[in-house]
Amino acid sequence: MTQEIYISALDWLGRGFTLLPIVPGTKYIARGFGLAMDRVLDQRRAAEYFRDSSVRWNLAVVAPAGTHILDFDDWDLYLRWLKFVKPFDDSMTRTYTELTPSGGVHVFLAGEVPPGYRCRKGCEIKRHSLVAPSVLSSGRYEVFADLPIYHGSLDAVFYFLREPCTDQSIPLLPKPGTRIFPAGKIDQIKARFPIVEMFKSYYPKVTLKQRGVFYNCLCPFHADKYPSFWLNSKLNIFGCHTCKARGDVINLYALIRDINNEQAIEDLMAYAF
Ligand SMILES: [Zn+2]
Repeated sequence: MTQEIYISALDWLGRGFTLLPIVPGTKYIARGFGLAMDRVLDQRRAAEYFRDSSVRWNLAVVAPAGTHILDFDDWDLYLRWLKFVKPFDDSMTRTYTELTPSGGVHVFLAGEVPPGYRCRKGCEIKRHSLVAPSVLSSGRYEVFADLPIYHGSLDAVFYFLREPCTDQSIPLLPKPGTRIFPAGKIDQIKARFPIVEMFKSYYPKVTLKQRGVFYNCLCPFHADKYPSFWLNSKLNIFGCHTCKARGDVINLYALIRDINNEQAIEDLMAYAF
């Protein structure tokens, strides 16, 4: 754990962020630290707090100027945001992203904030936040997409954030040649197959360690030494920090069976209905 948080601390320093030690199991900044006070700015102090300390500090990061953390309260709003910004600039959605223990999503983006925006309900823009693998009583922060932080125009992001309700009006066009399944059926499949149960049925010998809605284990999809595979029973999704496998219950089934997603949907539909 300490080792893992130290690696994360070094990654964040490398991205130009500064660090704050946070009281273990909480969101409280360690005494003497703060946004206007002391911060961990270099590798020597990162080692002191996150590698050598007997205290298992949680890790918070402070974004450099021009970098923003979109804090979505829940997965649904995050998905609506994805759908909204994709047609403007797909690369914006492929940016460093984390899941929070309370079911929220943190999206890291760099660019200019247009003046005069007002955040819609359910989302906040932050300059600092806890990051993986920090632990709260409800669970752990997890890396969802370990990608470089997107840098570019954020106009679409802020258009979405300040205009509630308009995101419903833009239809998403499927890629040419994509087979279209009725949207409701896919949601029904996802609701019908709990991801943890599916995983257990294929990997009955793998020991899953549970922390709230998160489950961790050695990844079955690569030669794993440290448990880097996770499942989230609330969102019904999975991921691996190392081999970057990730997705929902349909993607997991496709990966296990080594088939494509369309075949997985057909198989699961046949089982379920
Ligand atoms: Zn893996």
